[in-house]
Amino acid sequence: MKMSNMLISTLREVPAEAEIDSHKLMLRAGMIKKMAAGIYNYMPLGLKVLKNVENIIREEMNGAGAQEFLASAMIPAELWQESGRWDAYGAEMFRLKDRGERDFCLGPTHEEVFTDIARNEIKSYKQLPLNLYQIQTKYRDERRPRFGVMRSREFIMKDAYSFDKDQEGLDLAYDKMHDAYVKIFNRCGLDAKCVAADSGAIGGSNSAEFMVKSEVGEDDVVFCSKCDYAANIEKAHSPAEKEEKQEFKEVNKVETPNVKTIDELVKFFNTNEKRFAKTILFNADGKIVAVMVRGDREINEVKISNAIGEITSLELANSEEVRIATGADVGFAGPKGIKVDMLLVDEEIANMYNFIVGANETGYHFENINYGRDFEGIIGDYRNVTEGEKCPVCGGKVTIARGTEVGHIFKLGTKYSEAMNANFIDEGGKEKPFIMGCYGIGVTRTMASIIEQHHDDNGIIWPLAVAPYHVSVIPVNIKDEEQVRVANELYNNLISMEVEALLDDRNERAGVKFKDSELMGIPMRITVGKKIGEGEVEFKLRDSDMEVVKIDEVCNIIKNEFEKNNIKLK
Ligand code: ATP
Ligand code: MG
Repeated sequence: MKMSNMLISTLREVPAEAEIDSHKLMLRAGMIKKMAAGIYNYMPLGLKVLKNVENIIREEMNGAGAQEFLASAMIPAELWQESGRWDAYGAEMFRLKDRGERDFCLGPTHEEVFTDIARNEIKSYKQLPLNLYQIQTKYRDERRPRFGVMRSREFIMKDAYSFDKDQEGLDLAYDKMHDAYVKIFNRCGLDAKCVAADSGAIGGSNSAEFMVKSEVGEDDVVFCSKCDYAANIEKAHSPAEKEEKQEFKEVNKVETPNVKTIDELVKFFNTNEKRFAKTILFNADGKIVAVMVRGDREINEVKISNAIGEITSLELANSEEVRIATGADVGFAGPKGIKVDMLLVDEEIANMYNFIVGANETGYHFENINYGRDFEGIIGDYRNVTEGEKCPVCGGKVTIARGTEVGHIFKLGTKYSEAMNANFIDEGGKEKPFIMGCYGIGVTRTMASIIEQHHDDNGIIWPLAVAPYHVSVIPVNIKDEEQVRVANELYNNLISMEVEALLDDRNERAGVKFKDSELMGIPMRITVGKKIGEGEVEFKLRDSDMEVVKIDEVCNIIKNEFEKNNIKLK
């Protein structure tokens, strides 16, 4: 591409609205332009990278035996009503009506559509296994669109759906997708780690996320410092701490006027946080659920949602609801005599002795409460793991880091096939629901994550495999005919080698051209200047020092770079 013909939209200023490096750089390099909150146009440069990432995904998906498909983005409401998600999806779904007042949505994901396709097209076990995927625009009216294309309202996703006749088939399909994802992210130059994830009400070890460590990530990931245990905080577990066994003491009601928070209680009782059990009330789809965790622990809302069952909303109970359940003001709830629909007790509480809880009476707490004698509930793991706790696999210490989810693989089982009556005939002539899996990659989010991991103060540093252009050829002085001739010749040679080359033939100062090339992250640069007299040009990799090389050698040097990176030129 000759840059004189190119739409270049680089910005010198850092746009005020962008908070994170990838967003700033995508705007500054002119890759994307904002249309509305969380909605972007992809400029030519951005689109080239997007296509490169898509092609890597496509090659690896095809390599894993999946078939490409393209479903419509607009989906009739009926399919979602069948699965029960028309209501459950809530405000995140973009909904619209056609002229006949029929309801549709813009697909936020496509489980229903692919289940529908399978039930119409697959009749027999002989047509299984099958894995269909698409690379398509998705729509989600996110509560907080931010960080550019990291969390946008319109974004591109690769979504795949596998159909099998039995669990072994699904396990195999899932493992194949896992391996394909490892290859995809490697080829994109992205350091992504596969971590165990929450599978909602389905439970089990049925779901994993590919996470990129990032300070701006919106997920917390628990990593073991000794073994490869890694799990999203939503799923991570650590063995419950146990107190040394003690005799149960007599319950003692203590007047605690205006002492409500754990900090206040610690001061009042002159003891530490671990001596208390907090009782927090939630409203889950209208049911009042109390959750108890140790005073120093945090409640994990995903774990409690899973324990309650399929719910669409979980909110802290308001003061009126607290009053009805406890008969007291907020701050004095406890398990003894509480009137709730469900009492969830963290497993650690059952290992504590003679602890302090609210007395369900304004201004009072109980001392010497014990699980089993004074109250009972549903015991489980309802808390967040914290830094330094024990790994559930090897007992080593865990650390917690922020991460961004770029991909997700999920064993769905028969969740959708049963709800939507999607069956096939098995070997014995019996009707059975498909055993399904679904596998997503955020394509646009992957692109932004690559920038997060590959940039410096001057701009993006694209890994060669996804770079919009591989080489920029820059004649220093556009008025110097000889420089222009050599630059053109090199450019044409590169094009004939099928290298994606840019020729910066703009009438600009060399400094401006260098800056643009660095900002856009072009991995290699050839500068054609005065040294052509001696048969030499300058060659520079984006992230190393400049070298002076012979004109006749430069194309070979570039070829070697492709080989080093394991990339075949077409
Ligand atoms: P998140 O927890 O980040 O909201 P999710 O669990 O809603 O993600 P999935 O439904 O599993 O995401 O979607 C598959 C992939 O699509 C995700 O792994 C992510 O990479 C990408 N993705 C999801 N939401 C967005 C978004 N709003 N903008 C860009 N990419 C997204
Ligand atoms: Mg989401």
